[in-house]
Amino acid sequence: MLNLIDVAKQKGNDEQLKSLWNTYHCQSDIISTNGRIYGRYCKNRFCTLCCSIRKAEIINKYFPIIEKWEEPYFVTLTVKACKAEKLKLMVSKVLQGFQLIKDKHKKSYQRGKGIKLIGVKSLECNFNPTKKTYNPHLHLIVANKEIAEILIKDWLELWNRKGKLFASRKAQDMKKIFNAETGLIEIIKYGTKIFTEPDIKKKGENSSYQIYVAALDVILRAMKGKRIFERFGFNSEKKSVIEIAEPQPVTDYKQWEFNPKLSDWKNTDTDEVLTGYKPKHQLTAILSNCIDLDSK
Ligand SMILES: [Zn+2]
Repeated sequence: MLNLIDVAKQKGNDEQLKSLWNTYHCQSDIISTNGRIYGRYCKNRFCTLCCSIRKAEIINKYFPIIEKWEEPYFVTLTVKACKAEKLKLMVSKVLQGFQLIKDKHKKSYQRGKGIKLIGVKSLECNFNPTKKTYNPHLHLIVANKEIAEILIKDWLELWNRKGKLFASRKAQDMKKIFNAETGLIEIIKYGTKIFTEPDIKKKGENSSYQIYVAALDVILRAMKGKRIFERFGFNSEKKSVIEIAEPQPVTDYKQWEFNPKLSDWKNTDTDEVLTGYKPKHQLTAILSNCIDLDSK
């Protein structure tokens, strides 16, 4: 987060700077009482904590529905990778393109032709450090094989008009899902990965990770204001109303402040730490040696 803050400072992006600081301080001041802790969530997309809560909410909401689909398929729709300057535009085009396909089928279905497209989709973008390109793409889970085939066919038609080739068949993917839960977890990365393999070809074998901060900033800005997760063709069940208890005054409580040097929250009055967490060696090593501030 501090590295992203530096990038935003260089660019004079004050609005982004404010959000990034909010995330830096997400849950940094907390109060504990009666075995519970209370703090403030920043709710930003680039906050790993808030994002994991959002993902869990999505999974809990959609898993019971997807589980009932007859033959769920996993689909990936991609377009040609682009340079940083083009990413914002490409992200919009990808979302618009999908919307066009969805609308077309909705209309024919309403006229009694064709089938209803049912699924969930998630927008993602990764950075290719070798080529310095970005690949905005959609991950979907759809209700059956026929929908998967229709989407790929229409997607290729849409991106390959007037002799231009923006999407190849080879780069699109569909496969049957055997476990709806892991399938759902797989598609919801919520925007982008923080850790990137520097050489995609070496994936898996002795892969080391890098954090490409400038590239991450490019992705976050391109996705700003865009909806990342969306359902289509079905309604989700109504939200159950969470009853919020009346505030109760407490006298027995402790106050804690996050201390980056300790990787833990420290009691504001004593030397007590809250969790006793010790970061793994691999994580500290990545954070101190594997941050690339410039590639984009
Ligand atoms: Zn947060």
